[in-house]
Amino acid sequence: MNITFLGTGAGLPSKSRNVSAIALHFMENQGSVWLFDCGEATQHQILHTSIRPRKIEKIFITHLHGDHIYGLPGLLSSRSFQEGTTPLTVYGPKGIKQFIETSLSVSGTQLLYPLHIVEIFDGYQLNETNFIVDVIKLEHGIDSFGFRITEKDQIGELQVDKLKKLGIEPGPIYQQIKANDVTHLPSGQQIYRKDVVGPMKKGRKLIIFGDTRNPLQFKDFIDQSDLLIHEATFNGNSQEIAYQYFHSSNVEVAQLAKQAGVKKLVLTHISARYQDEELSNFLSEACVIFPSTILAEDFLTIKVPRTFDN
Ligand SMILES: [Zn+2]
Ligand SMILES: [Zn+2]
Repeated sequence: MNITFLGTGAGLPSKSRNVSAIALHFMENQGSVWLFDCGEATQHQILHTSIRPRKIEKIFITHLHGDHIYGLPGLLSSRSFQEGTTPLTVYGPKGIKQFIETSLSVSGTQLLYPLHIVEIFDGYQLNETNFIVDVIKLEHGIDSFGFRITEKDQIGELQVDKLKKLGIEPGPIYQQIKANDVTHLPSGQQIYRKDVVGPMKKGRKLIIFGDTRNPLQFKDFIDQSDLLIHEATFNGNSQEIAYQYFHSSNVEVAQLAKQAGVKKLVLTHISARYQDEELSNFLSEACVIFPSTILAEDFLTIKVPRTFDN
């Protein structure tokens, strides 16, 4: 799994940071992509990456503020022109359906693929083959949600040595052995999967939050995740302003990462007021509290390994 930050600014686009969008790529799954938020010009940002709009299978919208959704109609429409024929589902707060359907209908846009729109709520859960996505309501003036993406544990690797010792040579039978608890071979031999695979591969847990104030209240939801991606619109000196505007500061978010025992923190949704030296201070302020913090920037791609070495 890789994550690419397509827009890391707060509220307004600037020359160096576009408005919010994050792509989660599943390398293992034919390069499919889930998008989180779709601020204006997200499709332009995508042009600078290897992401193909037709590979986007799901779009999760944290909240309906313009800097998180104004790129949706354009992207949905362009996906149709770019050989996008496979279904796409958009998950977002109440109102997302009206926003999309109105934009598409008044502009006379016809999509060539099935579009599903799901309105989410606090406690909503999506159960996919390999992942569970849980939704939590945040505190942001309008409905804003956070997503916890939990990868299910996976069966360990086949131990080829063991199979060879049993006289089973590589071939399609290996897939069958991995897919079933017991496999009956034509020779009459029975192979129990548990005897020929390595340890279970522990699933990863990532958190992608929308805008919120008072982030520490969500400590339990985030507990022990591998990666936390969180807005940090303001710095520690502006904590009161952050509260007033329903946003978080870098200091609060670093405290959250520390208290929740996460492995790595990425700060995003950074106000354009922080530039150059102020921006490096912004990062150091967080690192003092939680050393494994990085600052997102547009087009930054990070890997999500099974274990982060801090
Ligand atoms: Zn925002
Ligand atoms: Zn917002």
